[in-house]
Amino acid sequence: MEITLSPLSPSLSKTFFTSLYELADGERIRACLQCGTCSGICPFGYIMKFPPGKMIGALRADIFEQVMKTDSVWMCVSCNACSAFCPSDIPITAALMTRAKEEMLLAGNIPTELQAALENTQRYGNPMGESPRKRSDWTLGITPEVNILGKTRQPVDVLWFVGDYASYHSRMQAATKALVKILNALGVKFGILGPEENSDGDSQRLAGERGLFEMMAQKNGQAFKKYKFNEIITTDPHAFNALKNEYPALGISYPVKHYTQFLNERIEQIKPLLKKEIKARIAYHDPCYLGRVNNIFDEPRALLKAIPGVELVEMSHQGMNSLCCGGGGGGMWLDGFQWEKAHTRLSEWRVREAVAANADILAVACPYEPPRFEDAIKTIQTASQLKVRELAEVLAEAMDL
Ligand code: SF4
Ligand code: SF4
Repeated sequence: MEITLSPLSPSLSKTFFTSLYELADGERIRACLQCGTCSGICPFGYIMKFPPGKMIGALRADIFEQVMKTDSVWMCVSCNACSAFCPSDIPITAALMTRAKEEMLLAGNIPTELQAALENTQRYGNPMGESPRKRSDWTLGITPEVNILGKTRQPVDVLWFVGDYASYHSRMQAATKALVKILNALGVKFGILGPEENSDGDSQRLAGERGLFEMMAQKNGQAFKKYKFNEIITTDPHAFNALKNEYPALGISYPVKHYTQFLNERIEQIKPLLKKEIKARIAYHDPCYLGRVNNIFDEPRALLKAIPGVELVEMSHQGMNSLCCGGGGGGMWLDGFQWEKAHTRLSEWRVREAVAANADILAVACPYEPPRFEDAIKTIQTASQLKVRELAEVLAEAMDL
């Protein structure tokens, strides 16, 4: 894959420092202890010429332009590990890394694959460049018919924000259909936006495209207004994060849950339906924007533990210290670029951890992950027996649906 960076920017924009310090508690950057924790925990810190701690050092020394002349910023997968473990509570991901990516975009220094994903989002409302009209094609043939709100205009209890990868990606559609079966088995009255849904925009925001994020949010907000529902559930942790933490500042505010939270609230209804034993050791991978950013660690594990025969095992990185799959925050669209630099993938590292934990199944609750981990398994000889399953798939199987 061709990777190009245009001639590097001679200077930072005039508003860089004011916006950096004013945004999301950015003022706290001044409280940096230079302890190096952020650089140490960063999964690509070892390859960055300026890992996060050194970037702050460069800010202090007034040589940040040197940072912008490297590709350090584009090695950041927005996993939030640096922010979560900083002893000075500095919002490194939200304030520094995202702002620095915005600056790189302003200067036109952008890996081509990321640029394509951003252009696709602007043009088609999804990063893959798929037709918006085909967003609900995954529902074809499902009985009973999935309620597409624009067609039926029926009030529902739950608006399911399906999301880009769960709607379009052929591997993920199996998991999406599994969740349909579970919702139907529980008697949940739900509907989807179908062609009226746009990308949640969260990963584009984290990749530095705030304007595009706001455009997506406004389009989704307009669609939400047209229908009657009590709450929103999401398949994608990034959609959950955007709706919970980012959309309200734009005047778009609804009760929202990730689907694992929603199902866990109904666990007593689910338990008698778990008729099929699944004899397997399952390692659960905490997605960064479900776990570390939004503190949802227990609900997915409770659902898996409720399945007869399942033994839950933990990988060396877990919970708050989970290891990013490399896909969120724009990483999905920097794979080729980051491979060129690091010659390793975070997904491969994660699969090795699942093998070390002696897991039979690597369970996930984010639509970015199954294709990434399945690709990684193909490259690791010792992982050939490991299966990757979306949590909804495991649950639907145990419910014999
Ligand atoms: S972890 Fe926090 S205090 Fe330590 S170097 Fe990084 S930003 Fe500074
Ligand atoms: S958000 Fe993750 S990838 Fe980015 S600098 Fe922090 S630790 Fe590194």
